[in-house]
Amino acid sequence: MDKKFAILADIHANLDALEAVVEDARSKSVTDFICVGDVVGYNASPNECVDLVRQLDCFTVRGNHDHYCAYDESLDDFHPMAASVVAWTRHQLAGDRSQWLRELPLHAFHQGMTLVHSTLDMPERWGYVFDSIEAEAHFCYQNTQICFHGHTHVPVIFEKHGGIVERYDPQNIHIGLGRKYFINTGSIGQPRDNDNRASYCIYDTAQREIQFHRVAYDIEATQAKIRAAGLPERLAQRIAVGR
Ligand code: ZN
Repeated sequence: MDKKFAILADIHANLDALEAVVEDARSKSVTDFICVGDVVGYNASPNECVDLVRQLDCFTVRGNHDHYCAYDESLDDFHPMAASVVAWTRHQLAGDRSQWLRELPLHAFHQGMTLVHSTLDMPERWGYVFDSIEAEAHFCYQNTQICFHGHTHVPVIFEKHGGIVERYDPQNIHIGLGRKYFINTGSIGQPRDNDNRASYCIYDTAQREIQFHRVAYDIEATQAKIRAAGLPERLAQRIAVGR
């Protein structure tokens, strides 16, 4: 059966951005939602974002923020500002939400595609894939034609063809025979490519096409929630500039 998947990543507890993306995806007749991790962290609505993702019946893999917010592990490797939000989020997560995050798989084979937050090259180490060399290490482990990921908050396409890995800026692509794709959908809750609109992808299996979409949302409302929660001011500022 043909499907239209919305692929979400790096929601980071930004409910206004997530709601805007869900509405946009529904207006484009999406049938299924998928999330490649980091539902929580950075912004002020972790419980609400976990609840909405669960309501969407959204198949989700675990991101590094999901991991550290749900497991009581040392935050020594985190930037101090990120660590302070992880500590805040641990206190906020109520009910069974932390357990839900804990039980998410680190990577998954789902509906014919592979899903991972960072890279299949030692996913538990949360490596960042910015360039073709890092993508090449990942492709050694990718057994499906398409794999979606997040983590860098920068949307990008890596394509492997005839042993060569190429990097492309986000654009609508047609899935070609004999090619493999490792696609970063960009971030919903904290984009870092100088565009402050929420970023996500749609994968249309009938058209064999992947599209990138950007959605404007009420940034001021999200900033007000960050300030009301007493989270660092820098977090409110960065979502306005998309960095
Ligand atoms: Zn993230």
